[in-house]
Amino acid sequence: MISADMEGATGVTWTGDVTPGTEQWQRFRRLFTADVNACVSGLVAGGAQQVVVNEAHSSQRNLLLEDLHESARMLTGRHKPLSMMQGIDSDVDGVVFLGYHTGAGSRGVLAHTYMENSITGVWLDGVLASEGRLNAALAAEYGVPVLLVTGDDLTCEDAASYAAPAWTVAVKECVSRYAAVCLPPAVTSSQITEAATAAMASAGRSDAVVAPHHVEVEFDASHLAEAAAVVPTVDLIGVRRVGFDAVSMTEAMKAFKVVTHIAGAAIEDVYG
Ligand SMILES: [Zn+2]
Repeated sequence: MISADMEGATGVTWTGDVTPGTEQWQRFRRLFTADVNACVSGLVAGGAQQVVVNEAHSSQRNLLLEDLHESARMLTGRHKPLSMMQGIDSDVDGVVFLGYHTGAGSRGVLAHTYMENSITGVWLDGVLASEGRLNAALAAEYGVPVLLVTGDDLTCEDAASYAAPAWTVAVKECVSRYAAVCLPPAVTSSQITEAATAAMASAGRSDAVVAPHHVEVEFDASHLAEAAAVVPTVDLIGVRRVGFDAVSMTEAMKAFKVVTHIAGAAIEDVYG
């Protein structure tokens, strides 16, 4: 399975590159699709019998099906209970985090955690967590290894802290939130293919590990935390921070999804 996000795709450095409907997005969805295809090629060369690609960015309608590698199937569109990780509870043997990025409160190209800028940090069991860290914990709950992570160099550093055995490919070097030194797709494609092929050696499920988790979410404004705290099981634990306990990572991610939706609905245009 490939969980495919767009901020960490080859060449992407800026809001317009990943905002559906813009001219730049039309350009970068081709580069994004090329990254995915390079990964599918590698996974198949490494022995994968089937590859399902879960579109994980924004509208979740970015990849070009007409250009997709013929060995892949694509899960596209919203809404999905497990969001970026929909399908992890099926019989997949490994997951790739493609085009990922660092989390809110961290350095990195287009760093954020689910909400583009209203969340200033998410902590999983006390550790500042990127989407990769959250999703890796979810994969572990089903015994699925993270095989490969692609994104900027800081995303690869982050991956080493939550999925040390995973292969990584840095398709760009972060200079700032909106700038990076980028490699051309001709180079990143072959790097992604090679890494995906090698990473297939780690494919295979292990025992599922279901455990309770504690999640905290900090927002950039107090009213967003207050709105999220209306959700049952979610407590206001600071002026801008909420926390909740969940019996499993699956339940934690579902609760997190509700928290982000409720907070998102409380944002006003100018004052946030
Ligand atoms: Zn995204």
